[in-house]
Amino acid sequence: AKSCRRGAAVCFAPEHEAVLRRDAAIEQALRRADLAVEFRLLYQPIVDAVSGRVEAYEALARWQSPTLGFVSPAEFIPVAERSRLIRDLSRVLLGQALDTMRDWPAERRLSFNLSAHDIAAPESVDHLAAMVVASGIDPRRIVFEVTESGLMRDLGDATRALTSLRALGVGIALDDFGTGYSSLSYLQRLPVDRLKIDRSFVIRCAEDETSLNIVRSILDLCRHLTLDCVVEGVETADQLLLLRSVGCRAMQGYLFHKPMPAAAIPAFEAAPPLW
Ligand code: C2E
Ligand code: CA
Ligand code: CA
Ligand code: CA
Repeated sequence: AKSCRRGAAVCFAPEHEAVLRRDAAIEQALRRADLAVEFRLLYQPIVDAVSGRVEAYEALARWQSPTLGFVSPAEFIPVAERSRLIRDLSRVLLGQALDTMRDWPAERRLSFNLSAHDIAAPESVDHLAAMVVASGIDPRRIVFEVTESGLMRDLGDATRALTSLRALGVGIALDDFGTGYSSLSYLQRLPVDRLKIDRSFVIRCAEDETSLNIVRSILDLCRHLTLDCVVEGVETADQLLLLRSVGCRAMQGYLFHKPMPAAAIPAFEAAPPLW
């Protein structure tokens, strides 16, 4: 496969071919999927690690395909984005999440992941906004998480979309903060309320001073810009103590709880573990 004839339609290494076949199988299964039946959300708590209170749950999609079995969102989200199926999927999932929220304590918030494709077209944004309004749930209880990577293509459109969502009262979080190429210019342009510090900084913060100092600097940045901040991927008590010592409050990670089905939330709320 080294010599590629000019004009040949396809030309790549065998590993790459396997990935493409897998993606094609995922796309086919996705097109045939009954979204409302095969997809569900798990919810992972975001806690105030100083007071111990639960503040929100992040909704994370899970797919049990009748033909492919369990498929991870790391695999199906990119395929859904490329094949334009993401908008339908996001609508189904947002509908589920808004329903689930009815059983939650009144002050509990929902953090919901949106793809750049969900906000690329004004009618798609309007549809999501209309769903929030129709649910009757206070929009201030909803945070939409977006990653900068997808917004790169058209920052102007993204800014308009996020501004119109925010006008409803929902919050906007910039996800995976610190992993992209131009995080700071995004902060300057996009209407954002909160940053989620990527797990990669947390993983290393106990072993490496630089990572902890980066977290410290992002917290400073948040204070100066009056943004909230959440650290993701907190797995150990050591990490919790270090992060708390540099001023992190809102945290998320396996230490607190793994993503859980909606049905497990009442028991968790009734007896949140002590950290
Ligand atoms: P994300 O938004 O950054 O979500 C956090 C991911 O980290 C989740 O993986 C979560 O299960 C995992 N996680 C949470 N705490 C820990 C921890 O302490 N340690 C480790 N190792 N991992 C932790 P998940 O659920 O597999 O989702 C992967 C990605 O797929 C998400 O990353 C998000 O980008 C995307 N995704 C998931 N659900 C949706 C969705 O409904 N819509 C969209 N557009 N994207 C979604
Ligand atoms: Ca997220
Ligand atoms: Ca993240
Ligand atoms: Ca991520």
